[in-house]
Amino acid sequence: MREKKEICVFVSSPGDVSTERDIVEDVVQRINKTLGDELMVFVKVKRWEDIPPCAGSVQETINSHVGPYDIFLGIMWERFGSPTSNAESGTQEELKSAYESWKSNGSVAEILFYFRENTSVPRNADAAEQLLKVIRFREELSSKLKYTLYHEPIDFERLVRDDLEHIVRKLLNKTTVPKSINVENTDIEKVEQVWDAIGVASSFKPNNHVEKQTFYRARIQTTSGYIAGKEGVDELKSNFILISKDPIRPFDIQIGETRSLRQAGNPTAIPDLTILDLGSVKSMYPFLQVEGYRWIRMVLAELTTDQKILDFIYENDTDPQVRSITAKNPSASSDLQQKECKFCQDRFRFLRDLRSGSDKTFIIANDFPYGPYFHYIAFPAQPIHAWQDLELPDIYDMNHTIWRFLKREQKAGKWLPAPAGVFIGLNSSIRHLVMGTRTRTSAGASITHVHKQIWGMAPGSVNLGNHLDELCRRIEVKGGYLNAYLQFLRREQMVIHEDDHVVLYVPYGQISIHELQIMVKKPGITHYLALSEEEITSLSIAETIAVKLLDALGIHSFNQVMITLPFDRVSTYFSLILCFVTREVDLAVSELNHLFVVDKYPEETRELLVPIKGSIIKQVVESAAGIAIS
Ligand SMILES: [Zn+2]
Ligand SMILES: [Zn+2]
Repeated sequence: MREKKEICVFVSSPGDVSTERDIVEDVVQRINKTLGDELMVFVKVKRWEDIPPCAGSVQETINSHVGPYDIFLGIMWERFGSPTSNAESGTQEELKSAYESWKSNGSVAEILFYFRENTSVPRNADAAEQLLKVIRFREELSSKLKYTLYHEPIDFERLVRDDLEHIVRKLLNKTTVPKSINVENTDIEKVEQVWDAIGVASSFKPNNHVEKQTFYRARIQTTSGYIAGKEGVDELKSNFILISKDPIRPFDIQIGETRSLRQAGNPTAIPDLTILDLGSVKSMYPFLQVEGYRWIRMVLAELTTDQKILDFIYENDTDPQVRSITAKNPSASSDLQQKECKFCQDRFRFLRDLRSGSDKTFIIANDFPYGPYFHYIAFPAQPIHAWQDLELPDIYDMNHTIWRFLKREQKAGKWLPAPAGVFIGLNSSIRHLVMGTRTRTSAGASITHVHKQIWGMAPGSVNLGNHLDELCRRIEVKGGYLNAYLQFLRREQMVIHEDDHVVLYVPYGQISIHELQIMVKKPGITHYLALSEEEITSLSIAETIAVKLLDALGIHSFNQVMITLPFDRVSTYFSLILCFVTREVDLAVSELNHLFVVDKYPEETRELLVPIKGSIIKQVVESAAGIAIS
């Protein structure tokens, strides 16, 4: 049987809050009863009441008998306490030593401090003096730590219960992190200096003890507006936006508090056209077959979910463009999709075929590279026209074939020595149609056949990878910046799936709804060709999980962006990151800009994935046993 992990809470306070001190004891006993077995944890309270009397000063006795603990819990009301040999009061001295331990990654993992709000006038000069000291202490504290105010002991009970439960869960999660990626002895001052000096565009700060929070989301009041209030009278209402900076990309991200409440912020709001049956479409069609009504036929071809209507339009419409739209409709039959799909046609694919031998994934050069220095397209030989129809072996085969192909091209000296990395742009099969309300969207991929675009920028080009590399170089944290970020994500339970090589997570900076990312764990993996066989396998598993999770969230349309460095660049702490930038929702500002306005908080993605991820991960991971490692 597994042993219960012990977590120790030290309660520090002057003598006037004995009710609260007893409440802590009660709360902890309840946590042990309700969560002890589930979480395999035993929480222990240390209080000076339980420390045996000893020779020497009372405070020295307490100091020497406290021993190590995990959580410091301080309480103050009207009394500050009496001076000790080292500080103005015992509580102050205890907090000081806890703070030192916490700052230097010692045993103290969390510091909680509660102040009971004082509502009465002090009875005498001594009481007034004590209260003044409490207030000064609180003011001093506010620059270093977050504290909580409460009114009555009953409020205290609720606060302490929530805080302790949260921290206990958090600490348990933390202990599962392997030692090698712990960020310890971080020199926070240094990080801050570097930060200020270069003004890096990331609000993630490793181990920021000042704010007790490593990711910043600044909540800012913006201009107020009038909205409908009671009895139809418009009322002036404050608006708030939350601004954060992407931890890995040079982007600003804004979440409007009101905007995030919108119903339309959710994907899969497709207009219902089921009222139109084949019969009515057939009788309408002769009247629609004129130039002026072409747009109505296009909308119908785009939106109907009826396979028979699509077949009818394909067979009867005189306009080739309308016909081709039906074949790209996600509801089209596989036959219809194949008829209009270039990648399904043998003449097309074999003319351009760059594969060696019998790979199941085709690789061709893009006929019209629109900017990249090299530009290839990889697609499965099978007629697969929707990402959610891909299974692990398909994705694995695609990734692996791309890797082998690029290695070969590089060896053969097909390119200049150092193209700026490899990006993989992944096109979705579902098209873009904006009709005022959101529909199924994607930036009009002209080919519905699932494919990955592989492009490398000309040597010397600047890309997202350079920015991330800069962060990794400038922010000197033990284990590297990305490791620190990863550890933070684990602590916040943003990690969805993890194995020895990769981590799939909800990023703290999402530039589109439900964006997911995969990070390669080994530091120094700067580009796609630096991946090992095992890493490609792990990446493919995580990618398949991501595609299926997004499918479950109603998202079938996304761009995959791989953040990498040029082939010749060495970087100790950089790691390749694969981003799933979803295209399901109306982004107010496009990714061409540096500002993204999004509808959701990353935590919402996390919460939505909690109930569904287990079975999806299980299914994909189990299917991994079947893939052929070549
Ligand atoms: Zn096809
Ligand atoms: Zn938390």
